[in-house]
This record gives sequence, C-alpha cells and structure tokens, in this order.
Amino acid sequence: MTSTQKPSARAATAKRAGTFTESVIREMTRVSNQYGAINLAQGFPDFPMPAPMKDAACAAIHGDINQYAITWGSPALRLAIAEKYRSWYGMTVDPETEITVCCGATEAMASVFLALVDPGDEVIVFEPYYENYGPDAILAGAKPVFVPLEAPDWRMDPDKLRAAFSNKTRAIVVNTPHNPTGRVFTREEISLIAELCQKWDVIAITDEIYEHIRYAGSHHVLATWPGMRERTVTISGLSKTFSCTGWRLGYAIAPAEFSSPIRKVHDFLTVGAPAPLQAAGAVGMAFDADYYNHLALEYRARRDIMCSALDEAGFKYAAPEGAYYILADFSEISDLESREFAIWLAKEVGVATVPGMSFYSRPELGRSVTRFAFCKRVETLEKAAERLARSQTLV
Ligand code: GLN
Repeated sequence: MTSTQKPSARAATAKRAGTFTESVIREMTRVSNQYGAINLAQGFPDFPMPAPMKDAACAAIHGDINQYAITWGSPALRLAIAEKYRSWYGMTVDPETEITVCCGATEAMASVFLALVDPGDEVIVFEPYYENYGPDAILAGAKPVFVPLEAPDWRMDPDKLRAAFSNKTRAIVVNTPHNPTGRVFTREEISLIAELCQKWDVIAITDEIYEHIRYAGSHHVLATWPGMRERTVTISGLSKTFSCTGWRLGYAIAPAEFSSPIRKVHDFLTVGAPAPLQAAGAVGMAFDADYYNHLALEYRARRDIMCSALDEAGFKYAAPEGAYYILADFSEISDLESREFAIWLAKEVGVATVPGMSFYSRPELGRSVTRFAFCKRVETLEKAAERLARSQTLV
C-alpha cells in the first residue's frame, strides 16, 4: 500500500473464510520442500501412474478432446463408473441421472455438502478426520458433531455413535478405509451406521477413495446395505486407485433427487472436470481385477517397510488395515506438541509428516501423534527409515 492509499474499513476476509485455517496437509508439503525433507506428509504417490492411462490422455488431447465435457461428466467415464459398480459391488447405477464427475473427491464432498446440507444442520464426523470435512461443514453452515475413534485400535464406540444422532442430524460422513487412522470399518460397524441413518432419517455421505488399498477386512459399500441406496451419496475417485492425484477426478453417486442439486452446485463451482483426463479415466476404470490386486500387494509391501521403520524409531501405532497412512504416537520419543514435533522432524530428521492436530477439532486431542503417508517408492521409504532410525539420537 502506498502512503496515499487509505486502509480499507472493510475486513479483508469474508466471515466464512475467517472461520477455518489453511490446510495443514498442503502446508506440510511446503515445509518439506523448505527443509529438503522426504515428504511423507501429503498423501500423493512419488511413482508413476499406469502407462495406458497416460497414453490415453495424450491421445485424447491430440484427438482434440479439449473443450468442456458435459458438466456432470463425459458419457464414457460415467458409463465406465456405472459398469465398475455393477461388476464390483453389484450396485445398479444409472449413469444418466445418478453420477456427477467432479474435480476430485474433494470437490465432490464440498458440492455434496453445499447441495444437501442446510445451515444449522448437524453432520456427524468420526474423529480424527480428514481435515477437509471441517471446512466443508463450515462452508455449508453446518455444525459438525464428532464421534471419537479412540487409540490404540481406533474402533468406534457404538454407544457414542448412537448418542450423536438426533432430530437435528442431517448427515453422517463415513470414510472407510479411513484417513488418517487406516481403519477399515467392519460389517458390524457399517450395519450400525445403516441402522441409525434409517432410524433418524439421516443421509450418509461416504468417502471411499481408498477402497482398493486394503491389507485386512473387506470394503463395505454402505449404499448396498438394505434401505441405504436411497439415502446414501457414495463418493470416490481415481486419484488414489490410479496414482493420479493431480488429475483431479472424483465422483459422487447418488439417487437422482440428490444428484440434481449436486450437479447444479458442481456446475457453478467448476463447470466440469478436465475433458481429456476424463477420457483417459474411463480407460482406467475398465482395468480388470489383476490391476487392483497388484495395487494392494504393492501397498502391503510399502506398509510393511513403514511399520518396521516406525518400530525401530520407537513410535507406537496400530498397523493400518487400509489406506496409506499411519497415525503414530511419538510420546516415547518427544514431549513436543504435534505441530512443533512435525516441524522438528522435517527440519532435523528430514522426514515430513502431518501433525496430529490437523485431524482433530481441538488440537490438544492430537497432541502426541503425527501422520506418516507411505504412498511412496520402496527406495523413498527405505531412505526415510534410515533417517528415522537416527531420530532418537537427535532428541
Ligand atoms: N488425501 C490426501 C491426504 O490426506 C491428500 C490431500 C490433498 O492434499 N488433497 O494427504
């Protein structure tokens, strides 16, 4: 500002944007870059995505598929998604009316909140939770109601879940496999959620982005539970399954009466996801079971390396059943608070993580935990393991 300009009397920030902070996950990537650390913070792979999809994207661009796709998704991708849900989960989905392709599961979740949740509504969220759900709720004017998943095994307490439901509850967010704990909800847990949603006339919004990255248990699709199809929005995407987080391709599957407001919100936020990448996405969605088995096996090897590294360095954790994160307790290594510890680890040890505080409504709840993302090459994880092994001598 020059000396002749008067300061504005208006606040720089709209009230709603003032009520949440920037993403700590994305911030930790910047911290990692600043200190030249190995980035086990933000969950994105450092290995290539499948070549046939890369080729298909190049072919689509050269084939002049470079203008807007249909707002709610190119017909080929929606058809491929519908076919995948039919063959994998026995779920019939109408690609014409029930699928909205979005810019990542992230945009799908935000659009669903804005389309289906009113100001003042309560939305149940298991805690710890992927940090986006907080701002999503705030942007919709909703009140998040947290139900704890408690260490060491991150199981839900049925009584606490029952107690969270009321006439004010509009929705519950169900993320399985779960970020950041790695829990895969059991059939019993999913059944209880289904029972309570029906008892209280609540909609379920699922986040199933890690559906194919599992080491134990089965992936239970809540929408396939009796009575749940008509009250469930199933969100997933291509980012994790096809290692293409930068492509920003996700989707929401919901009955037509939910999909039409979701499509409207999505349209006015983004118009649509990138057209040539949608064309290539359809190629990936048609991969056969081998691809998915291979993906899960490779992740199991990465998980095992990460677990050994944490054992050796003195962290305490529950081995993840799915997804590619470990929320590890560092209280035997350091008594720093989670944010200070994560910065120290990035700077002095050279391994970036996401401080536990970013997954809790109150930072003190995540005081002594930090999240490791192990969606990395074996070499990257082995290098991180070497650095972590030295960390105890640095405290
Ligand atoms: N879901 C990933 C994580 O938790 C990536 C988040 C993001 O940056 N969109 O790290």
